[in-house]
Amino acid sequence: MILRPELTWDGGRFRRDREIEIENGLIREVRDATAPPEAGRALLPGFVNAHSHAFQRGLRGQGETFPEGRGSFWTWREAMYALVESFDVDSFRAACVQAFREMRAAGMTTVGEFHYLHHLPGSEGYELDEVLIEAAAEAEIRLVLLHAYYSTGGIGKPLAGGQLQFRSESPSAYWQRMDALAGKAELGCVLHSVRAASRADLATVRAEAKRRGLVTHIHLEEQQRELEECLAAYGRTPMEVVLETMDVDDTLTAVHCTHTLDSEMERYKDLGGRVCICPLTEANLGDGIPGGWFPVSLGSDSNARISMLEEMRWLEYGQRLTREERGCLRDAGGEVAPGLLRCATEEGADALGIPAGRIAAGCHADFVAIDLAHPALVGATDETLAAALVFGCPDGVIAGSCVAGRWL
Ligand SMILES: [Zn+2]
Repeated sequence: MILRPELTWDGGRFRRDREIEIENGLIREVRDATAPPEAGRALLPGFVNAHSHAFQRGLRGQGETFPEGRGSFWTWREAMYALVESFDVDSFRAACVQAFREMRAAGMTTVGEFHYLHHLPGSEGYELDEVLIEAAAEAEIRLVLLHAYYSTGGIGKPLAGGQLQFRSESPSAYWQRMDALAGKAELGCVLHSVRAASRADLATVRAEAKRRGLVTHIHLEEQQRELEECLAAYGRTPMEVVLETMDVDDTLTAVHCTHTLDSEMERYKDLGGRVCICPLTEANLGDGIPGGWFPVSLGSDSNARISMLEEMRWLEYGQRLTREERGCLRDAGGEVAPGLLRCATEEGADALGIPAGRIAAGCHADFVAIDLAHPALVGATDETLAAALVFGCPDGVIAGSCVAGRWL
């Protein structure tokens, strides 16, 4: 298959007269066009959603009234636990398929599913792991199964209630489960948070992930209370615990970092550590606005809203609103949109450790096609198209998306 879009994203700008040869689901070659283009389409790499909990799509529209006064992440978490305890196989599958289909419609061709809901209520089995894999296949989205280790219900506390459905018995049981999943899905390792694993387990699970060549993701410093509890228990911030116990390099992604101190982030980034931000979820949950850490990958997290175009724009807008200035996440050339597009593509792929997020030889043939005739793009030029997309367009400009050479 050869694609000849009118415009092709090269990682920094849109270019005319390029063609892309695809073979066996991979991009074989990108070169100068040998025939006229298909007018009216611009091609981007498929968006990579680096952090999702698909089942939380089942909460949409719920928990948005506050009869008992103000809500918080912690009151929302109670609603999430109630959802978890209500699931059977069919309702879990339906919520996941719905989320994954909405992701495809929003141009997300890969999802990094941070999967901690392993067991049905009252069960010790891992029924929901396989269901999740099937749901992704049904929605035809590329899945990186970020399988979570979760063993404590707060620092030094036993699991309780809905948390029992997240349970990992021990690091060795966790790796047995990972072995059972090998070959069924692309895998990554997860430590849910410093709340959900002892310091010894953070160290040993991360070390084994590194030995196996797997990326590792962890929720970090999303909430002030997480910092307070960690300081009380360990006399250290969660980021300090990570820096002390986990091998930090570019295969480690910390998700959120909403309240991370600049000095600690500097140490983390100097070691190569990656950051994933989920602007719409952080806004919905009232988490706060993270520092201008850049570049970062992006995630739809709670799936309260699924739109990569909105995640990109709110990454920059959050900074504009707190700093009272524009162009906060600009690159060396002073541009913002190309960097935001790299967050939605290359950075996500790198955080998940897969060859994607670029229209380049050897990468997965995963794309988003943009409808250049859409009314929201009237007046856009080759030079302003990226910014028009990021700041001015609804998801309706997405004409289709492609995973491994298959269009939907
Ligand atoms: Zn999350």
